[in-house]
Amino acid sequence: MSEAETARPGNFIRHIIDEDLEAGKYKTIHTRFPPEPNGYLHIGHAKSICLNFGIANDYHGKCNLRFDDTNPAKEDMEYVESIKNDVAWLGFHWDGAIRYSSDYFDQLYDYALELINKGLAYVDELTVEQIREYRGTLTEPGKNSPYRDRSVEENLDLFNRMKNGEFAEGKACLRAKIDMASPFIVMRDPVLYRIKFAEHHQTGNQWCIYPMYDFTHCISDAIEDITHSLCTLEFQDNRRLYDWVLDNISIQARPRQYEFSRLNLEYTLTSKRKLQLLVNEKIVDGWDDPRMPTVSGLRRRGYTPESIREFCRRIGVTKQENVIEMAALESCIRDDLNVNAPRAMAVLDPVKLVIENLPEGYEEILNVANHPADESKGRRELAFSRELYIDRADFREEANKQYKRLVLGKEVRLRYAYVIKAERVDKDVAGNITTIYCSCDTATLGKDPADGRKVKGVIHWVSVAHAKPAEFRLYDRLFKVANPAAEKDVLSTINLNSLIIRHGFVEASLVNAQFNVAYQFEREGYFCTDNVHSSPDKLIFNRTVGLRDTWQA
Ligand code: ATP
Ligand code: MG
Repeated sequence: MSEAETARPGNFIRHIIDEDLEAGKYKTIHTRFPPEPNGYLHIGHAKSICLNFGIANDYHGKCNLRFDDTNPAKEDMEYVESIKNDVAWLGFHWDGAIRYSSDYFDQLYDYALELINKGLAYVDELTVEQIREYRGTLTEPGKNSPYRDRSVEENLDLFNRMKNGEFAEGKACLRAKIDMASPFIVMRDPVLYRIKFAEHHQTGNQWCIYPMYDFTHCISDAIEDITHSLCTLEFQDNRRLYDWVLDNISIQARPRQYEFSRLNLEYTLTSKRKLQLLVNEKIVDGWDDPRMPTVSGLRRRGYTPESIREFCRRIGVTKQENVIEMAALESCIRDDLNVNAPRAMAVLDPVKLVIENLPEGYEEILNVANHPADESKGRRELAFSRELYIDRADFREEANKQYKRLVLGKEVRLRYAYVIKAERVDKDVAGNITTIYCSCDTATLGKDPADGRKVKGVIHWVSVAHAKPAEFRLYDRLFKVANPAAEKDVLSTINLNSLIIRHGFVEASLVNAQFNVAYQFEREGYFCTDNVHSSPDKLIFNRTVGLRDTWQA
């Protein structure tokens, strides 16, 4: 990681850590990133990853990758694998082996027994609906379950029978015995264990009772000697339960939970559940569709790990609820690619142009720089010839002075090549231009006309005989509204024109374009090959981002 990246601005969590270190509370800092493997990681997770792993890096501490896998019905190994891959791709290294909450199922069970033995947990046989009813509301206290005062022996026996599969799903659960009148609803005898007859991706069919998040998370943190357990603000109230569990079991370590605000991004979603819906409804081409705000989607779109880390650095970490503009993310990748992407030429909407004063079959190899400001990016050979493709939008039969491209009877420079003048056009029966005929000033290769004529416009081109056909995928926002998460029916706000496909040509050097190498197609934007569908025989490029911010347009 570069020096600029490590010079991170402070945030309230880092201040807490600094104080803890100063007070000698901890010698080393240990964080964790705890995704549930029920979907692919999204840009919101990237914020949490950069925070947790970033702190571990900067404080020479450790960060664990722990799968919070207590809900086998929704989880899958596909998600486990994708999450590992995404964290590594973002440039972070977890400490030691991958952890799973399920590694601790035996210990969690023993701690549940400890709570029962202390009279702090009981087996409840209310139905799910009754539990909800008894819980009360924000303004009304809850009421005690009739099963709340069972003896320790009875609870031990019933919990054992739950574990042995003697109860059907929903017929019994283990609850903490705290306070049904607590102003914090999470403290009104929260459920600690429920019955689920589901095969687990790690533990198979060994268990039919599964611990709940609030019981599992704090104990897992303590087992792993986590010092600072960082999570998003919706868990603020749960901190009381986090502390209650650890206060009431015999475990040494005392991790502390701190909350920060979630990342929300305009015109998209940061909820795995809702993103899953887009995948299931086939609105997108999988979790890694380049329109998805997932790490894998951004990668396929052409985002670099550096640009995502830079974005997370710029947005910072606070407790304020916020919605970040898409432009903020885009400016990070643009800043990166402007410096790092080699330049190339591609014509997305081609029309043929013939330079009539060059001999039939004329060909010339130009030697051009790959980057205008960075000689270390080298040079390449670019074929120029009598017949070219230019973009349809770069020619007009008539235009005013604002239009700095090719106009009938006027001159323009071909990038890296000559000044040409448009003489006449051919049209088809429908009136569409099929060929533009030009003349070329052969004394203008890389220099201005000798007689002082001013030629302002520059357009890009590819040679017909040398160019390779290519498909270009141009992406727009996936949603029509800035905050789709607030809509009742998310699917009704989908932008049906979020993908536009163009067929055109790229210069020959791009046949071997590697995936993960982004190019600036001059005057068109930043593109990379699509890692799923592109091949040397059928080149497909995703537009990562345009050259300028056009969101407001
Ligand atoms: P989702 O709603 O997308 O499923 P989640 O919070 O349930 O998100 P987890 O897999 O449990 O997803 O999250 C792993 C970690 O990432 C948690 O610590 C969580 O707080 C954090 N995280 C998830 N979404 C965001 C977000 N939008 N911004 C910041 N951190 C997030
Ligand atoms: Mg979740």
